[in-house]
Amino acid sequence: MADYQFETRKVIEKIKEYNPRIIGLQFPDGLKIHALKLVRQLEKELEVTVIISADPCYGACDIADTKLENIVDLLIHYGHTPLPLDYKIPVIFVEAYAKIDIIPALRSSLRLLSGYEKIGVATTTQHLHLLDEAIKFLEDHGKRVLSDEGVGTRRGQVLGCNFSSVKKLNVDAYLFIGSGDFHPLGIRLSTGKPVIAADPYTGEAKSIEDFADRILRIRFAAITRAREAEKWGVIMSSKKGQERLSLALNLKQMLEESGREAFIIILEDISPELLVPFRELDAFVVSACPRMPIDDYHLYDRPILTPIELEIALDKRRWEDYTLDEIIF
Ligand code: SF4
Repeated sequence: MADYQFETRKVIEKIKEYNPRIIGLQFPDGLKIHALKLVRQLEKELEVTVIISADPCYGACDIADTKLENIVDLLIHYGHTPLPLDYKIPVIFVEAYAKIDIIPALRSSLRLLSGYEKIGVATTTQHLHLLDEAIKFLEDHGKRVLSDEGVGTRRGQVLGCNFSSVKKLNVDAYLFIGSGDFHPLGIRLSTGKPVIAADPYTGEAKSIEDFADRILRIRFAAITRAREAEKWGVIMSSKKGQERLSLALNLKQMLEESGREAFIIILEDISPELLVPFRELDAFVVSACPRMPIDDYHLYDRPILTPIELEIALDKRRWEDYTLDEIIF
């Protein structure tokens, strides 16, 4: 199990500034396993009671302040960097950097990067502190390495719905440092360029191309099926960072102008079970998290599209101009 820098000493000093009575802790799923240890330490060193949020949390788009605002005086959110949103209660963000050696994964990536000269690097919050080490390693192995800040993201940082730090780089390919297919797939779909994913937890590296190709085929099939749909659900989320009401209104209007019927449905956590009562609908388009239709499509028995995919289904955009929907504040 990977260890993380929870910066507890720094956090305790910050908490003291707010003099809270009750504190909430929020974690993405992978970090929840550390919650009890942190609560023990905070309650031992401070005169506070700590409440752990066990709800799923996939990003800083989903700060638990609305759920906890009447209960806690202060929220500590681990694992993500802040988004420019107005929080109802004070929130302390703790990046929780992973304590991990990235060199074995970078070594594994060299063979896959051998055909490319200019490399763009990207990573997630947990590995931002390792970016300079990765750049030096790649440069020492003859690569030209580029990285940039994004809109609302740090240098080299990508979110599942924000690839602004990598999109404008003039590179031949990207190296993503982190685990899973979620972020490298996003880089591939938003830039159209080859992506090598180096996983510091396994020390291995792989190309994301075959996986991206399979996903694009699935998206093409979903768009084709959705062309026939007459009755649409426009799904929006009440999560602060995903709300996008004006987008939902535009999607409804776009569908109605094309002769379809459209209903806006709001949920906090979107799931197929909660959409069961709306059997009459033929298809969905999502104004909430842009990754839902792409990553959770297999859970739904009807086509579920991103706003950009809806434009293609309605012949307002060409398939050749397919790209990822993003939430850029
Ligand atoms: S909207 Fe989706 S992809 Fe974006 S930060 Fe939230 S959970 Fe991640």
